[in-house]
Amino acid sequence: MAHTSATAPPAARPEGQWAFGQREPLNPNERFKAADDGLNVRHRIETVYAHAGFASIPPEDLHGRMRWWGLYTQRRPGIDGGKTATLGPHELDDEFFMLRVRCDGGALSATQLRTIADVSVEFGRGTADITDRQNIQLHWVRVEDVPEIWRRLEAVGLGTQEACGDTPRVVLGSPVAGVAADEIIDGTPAIDEITRRYVGDPAYSNLPRKFKTAVSGSPHQDVAHEINDVSFVGVVHPELGPGFDVWVGGGLSTNPRLAVRLGAFATLEQVPAVWAGVIGIFRDYGYRRLRTRARLKFLVADWGAQVFRDVLEGEYLGFALADGPAPPPPPTGRHDHVGVHPQVDGRFYVGAAPTVGRVSGELLGAVADLVEAVGSDRVRLTVEQKLVVLDVPAERVDDLVEGLEDLGLAVRSASTFRRGTMACTGIEFCKLAIVETKARATALVAELEDRLPTFDEPLTINVNGCPNSCARIQVADIGLKGALAGGEDGYQVHLGGGLGLTSGLGKTLRGLRVPADELPDYVERVTRRFDEQRTEGELFAAW
Ligand code: SF4
Repeated sequence: MAHTSATAPPAARPEGQWAFGQREPLNPNERFKAADDGLNVRHRIETVYAHAGFASIPPEDLHGRMRWWGLYTQRRPGIDGGKTATLGPHELDDEFFMLRVRCDGGALSATQLRTIADVSVEFGRGTADITDRQNIQLHWVRVEDVPEIWRRLEAVGLGTQEACGDTPRVVLGSPVAGVAADEIIDGTPAIDEITRRYVGDPAYSNLPRKFKTAVSGSPHQDVAHEINDVSFVGVVHPELGPGFDVWVGGGLSTNPRLAVRLGAFATLEQVPAVWAGVIGIFRDYGYRRLRTRARLKFLVADWGAQVFRDVLEGEYLGFALADGPAPPPPPTGRHDHVGVHPQVDGRFYVGAAPTVGRVSGELLGAVADLVEAVGSDRVRLTVEQKLVVLDVPAERVDDLVEGLEDLGLAVRSASTFRRGTMACTGIEFCKLAIVETKARATALVAELEDRLPTFDEPLTINVNGCPNSCARIQVADIGLKGALAGGEDGYQVHLGGGLGLTSGLGKTLRGLRVPADELPDYVERVTRRFDEQRTEGELFAAW
């Protein structure tokens, strides 16, 4: 299965690279993956665990392979963040699961949205979060209910396969692909082809770690392409026309790196093959010795873009890609799709802002009803934890906006803080968390709306419960990373990061930990100072 004729440089010391014959599993994760493919756990869930219950699940499935089907145990309520690092996974475990529904391209029909809503209400205590990777996550799921949940999701073309685990995760896509008037190219066919061909393919189900993909032909660069393992960014080649610029090796967490350009151009038709080549390199040459060095970004950092491209073309594609142009800088302004915008076909798309992605099954069901009532059938999730309704006829726009606002989903009334604030799952459900995130970020948004009612500049505030950066703290204007302060909840601060026009990692303010109850004061102070000192049009990251 794995590639073996290596011409690429090996790492200075053995890193568990399969392409160099280093097949001996070097850590517990590699051992359980070698013992049995993660995808195989589905059969055991359906035939054993769903009947015998939580206690019947052995550790390597419970804390390992179940992720291959989008299932993580959630944190037992009442365990404070100070114990996160000292307790073992069993002590942190609740008997319930987080279930991640993958929504490739962020795309959902009204029926699919209603199905997720019904599953949430019936099996997840009504919980639902829109994630910054265009997924929807439910909580409080019992293993007994998982086969029925799969049956319902799969009946409408959804699923949880490889939503987590060392696999090709959900493929990000522009929420307005195919409808935006200023689109360079619609990447949807490539996303569909990648998922159809490769998701669930055992050739790619044992990777060194997770593998993240983004495809967008929007000039607004609306899929955070700089922080994915592989990204395809819409550009116009002077001779070949519209296509994609290929980027590799982005990722945040504790060793953040932005992706680099290969200088290579892929046509829409070439994208799936290039994707397979890049993930093939990751599988074969990726570092498997240490989990902390097992992301593609470390290999890219060691090889550099030219060696990576040479290996991709020479050993995987068998042909040379055309050299291509870099994407032009995105237009200034917000890129979150919130508000009412004309489509290329004369209809409109309408973006709405839940606060920090927190919704509910009941609310999603109501959105599905509303979407159908105005004659649409297409909803999109965004990488800012927002949602967009496509294909709205002009005469129904006001009805939809009013309906969404009545549900608490701000469209025209969305403040800059509602639009720009994201939060990860945090201590409410996440076993790695040190602090609370969703509720605190929600309260922060309300405070800032109250204290700074006229502030209307684009500003991103990303709140994380631990250093893992699921909410992208290093690329926010104001990144807040959970860190205990004197034994109490607090946040370390990263300032001035950004994506797109202001692409770069923020500066960590070392030594500063803002106590949780001082968060509104701190963010207000920074925001006021920026507002007072900025020059006309100056963005936070450039300030
Ligand atoms: Fe959990 Fe940490 Fe990720 Fe937040 S950043 S969801 S606390 S792992």
